Order: sequence, then structure tokens, then C-alpha cells
Amino acid sequence: MKREELNREAIVALDKRHVWHPYTAMETYIQATNPLVVVGAEGAYLTDADGRRYLDANSSWWVSTLGHRHPRLVKALVEQVGVLGHVSLAGITHAPAARLASELVALAPGAGQEALPAGERLSRVFYVDNGSTAVEVAIKMAAQYWAQNGRPRRTRFITLSGAFHGETVGATSVGGMPEFREVFGPLLFDVVHVPSPAEEGGWERAFAEVERALKASPDEVAGVILEPVVQGAAGMQVYAPAFVRAVREATRAVDTFLIADEVFTGLGRAGARFACELAGVVPDLLCLAKALSGGLLPFAATLATERVFSGFLGGRERALYYGHSYCGNPLGAAVAREVLAVYRDEDVLGQVARKAPRVKAAFEAMAERVPGVVRPRAQGMVGAVDLGGGGYLSGKGWRVYEAALKRGLYLRPLGDTVYIAPPLNIPEATLEELLHGVEESLREASAG
Ligand SMILES: *Cc1c(COP(=O)(O)O)cnc(C)c1O
Repeated sequence: MKREELNREAIVALDKRHVWHPYTAMETYIQATNPLVVVGAEGAYLTDADGRRYLDANSSWWVSTLGHRHPRLVKALVEQVGVLGHVSLAGITHAPAARLASELVALAPGAGQEALPAGERLSRVFYVDNGSTAVEVAIKMAAQYWAQNGRPRRTRFITLSGAFHGETVGATSVGGMPEFREVFGPLLFDVVHVPSPAEEGGWERAFAEVERALKASPDEVAGVILEPVVQGAAGMQVYAPAFVRAVREATRAVDTFLIADEVFTGLGRAGARFACELAGVVPDLLCLAKALSGGLLPFAATLATERVFSGFLGGRERALYYGHSYCGNPLGAAVAREVLAVYRDEDVLGQVARKAPRVKAAFEAMAERVPGVVRPRAQGMVGAVDLGGGGYLSGKGWRVYEAALKRGLYLRPLGDTVYIAPPLNIPEATLEELLHGVEESLREASAG
């Protein structure tokens, strides 16, 4: 039976009656928004039900780093679903999970460093569903590690202002964006907030606070969590890798953990395979999601060092009682393996290295040429500017969004930050089209 096709209006009507959208003021949406109705996507483009194409400037919330429906990923998915769609990972296993784990470990920060002690190697992979739970399990691993390895008072985490680590209550607790925290305040656990290294005053000021907090109560700090080099949701705030290195040294000095949340920066986005590598740092726990499954499936992983893992060996009472229904899902694992293979075969990191300077130069030029556009910044395949004050809930970015839509560009802002995070393999001509479209949209919004 062929499924009944719905036209655009019918889809929107059903949607407005029943769908509750993420990060969306629903009253305004229902009354005033004429949403894109995406019927297909290929490469860097989305296609709307009215037949128009839109360049996807943010890789669909940062996940489609190889573009939409990369033929090799689709093929890997289809082949896997014909064999094994899902099975739990509780004490049993399957080839995609086992093979992907070994491949991730071989690529992880520090993997090539002969001198790195075995305990400090990221040698173990825990599978989860998304970035939030990749962080959630890292928090629990750290807390349980200390609880059962002689440091039970270590229950507090140090986190950066502006940090975004996801949506669960645990991940929200270690987050540093007041807009997302305040309403849940009474539910969140206590953390130590330090300034963002991207703030004025430089990373040294932020680091001094980290060091102070570590020295003040080394017996209580379970770990420091950070997004290395780029704080994404805070508005693409770029900071010096030297901060990450300094934090690594400071956590080592008191023997506590560094948790690197590379859910956004991992797999090339920030210019290296992992942003930790820009700082020459190997964390104790590394959270990966988004790019890991190339935007095809919700699939994620947390890598742990052999030392962290070893802290859970022994009797049943020492095991990590944590897991999701879809842990290590074979479809996600098969696609993630193919993602890594495509990175290798298509030299995706080399492509990033070639295109990143162009992104940087274009955003600098926009700030020079368009009135009201300030703070150009770029890192790898991320470029951003601010519209001068207003913060996350300001409406300025949305004027640019509207101007961009008219030009066939899907350019969702972060408050008054306008940014791009396109597919890493975006063809150079398409990248030029994107950069031109961003500038034109900024110009129109700034004039209006
Ligand atoms: C997106 C993001 C998360 C949350 O990931 P989800 O897959 O949306 O749950 C966590 N940390 C960072 C740095 C992110 O950018």
C-alpha cells in the first residue's frame, strides 16, 4: 500500500496541532511561523515541500559533517539493517560495536604517543545515544570512580561559564548558560563555576580560578569538565588551547579528572580530529556524539582511560550500573565505522585545513564591511560574528535568519551570534555561496 502523500499545508496543520518543537517559543511559532517543511536533503542542501533548496549552514544542528545522505553512509546503514538492527549490549556483543571501539581507540588523542603510560590511554569505549548522555555517563563514571577508589568526598565538578553540556539534569548541572539553568535551579547539583577562558581578561584569568578551586578543595573535586577550544552553544566562543593544556596540568597536579566534551568539536569541526589535540592534551574522559554518526542516527560514545576503567573492576558492587536501551546500536555503530572510513578516504581533515582559512578571512571581512557586525571569530569549520549586544534571547539574529531564508540559506542563529558550521566536506564553490549569502543577509538585516 502506498502511503498517502500530504501536501505542505496539511503537514504544517498537523504539526501545529501536535508537535512541540525544541528550543521554540511555541505560541509565536503556531501563530506566526511558516516553517520549512523538509522533504529531502542531499549534501549541503535541504529541500522544502515547495521545491525550494536551502543551504544548511549549520549541518542540521552540527551533526551532518559529511553532508546529508552521504552515499557510503547510506549504504553502510542499509547493509547493516539487513543483518542486525538492534540487540542489547548487556554482557553480550556484536561486531560493529567491537570493531568501532577498537577503531576509535586507535584514533583517540594520545593514541600515537609511545611514551604515554597505559593507564592514561583512552582505551575503553562506553556507548550512549547522544551528547547529553555521553556527558551524563562521564559525570557518573568520575563520581563512582572516586566513591569506590578511596576518595568518596570527591563529588564536585568545576565547570566554565558559558558551558553547554546537554539537556539531562546532570548535564544541565555542569552547564554554564544561565538561560538554560535558572528555571531548574533547585534540581541541579552544586558545581564550581569559573569564568570562561573566552571572556575578556583572557584565559589566564579563567585558569587562575580553576587553579584556585582545585587548590582550595582538592579532596572534593571529582573533575573539571570543558568544551575544548570552542564553546559551541554559548555562541561559538573560541579560546586558546593553552587553557586546556594548563587545566590538564593542574588536574594532574592534584590527581583529578579532566572531562573533555567534544560532542561538537570532535571529528574535525575545530580544525583537528579532536580539539584536545590542538592543546596536545589527553583527557581522562572524552565525550563524542554529533559527527560520530554523520547525522544519520542518534549514536554517541564516551571514551575512558584504562585507569578510569580499572576503577570499576572487581566484584559486582563495583560495576557501572548505567546503560541505555540503544547502547551500541549496531546500525549506529556500522554508520560510525563508515564515517571514520570516509574521513580517511576523503581526507576530510585535510579538506578542513584547506577551507578553514577561507572561513576565517570571510568572517573578518564581514565585520569590517557590515555596520553593527562585531567580534569575528573562527576555528576550523566554524565562523561567527555578533550583532552587538543582546544575548541569547535577543531578536537580532532572527532578522538575519529571515533575510537568509529568502536567499535560500538556513542560518539558525544563537541569539545575536550569527555563525556557520557547514558540512566539513562542503565543496569550495558551495562554501563561497554560503559565505556570500551570510554577508548579504547580515547586510540586509543591518540596514533594516
Ligand atoms: C550538542 C551538545 C551536547 C548535547 O548533545 P545532544 O546530542 O544534543 O544531547 C553536549 N555537549 C556539547 C558540547 C554539545 O555541543
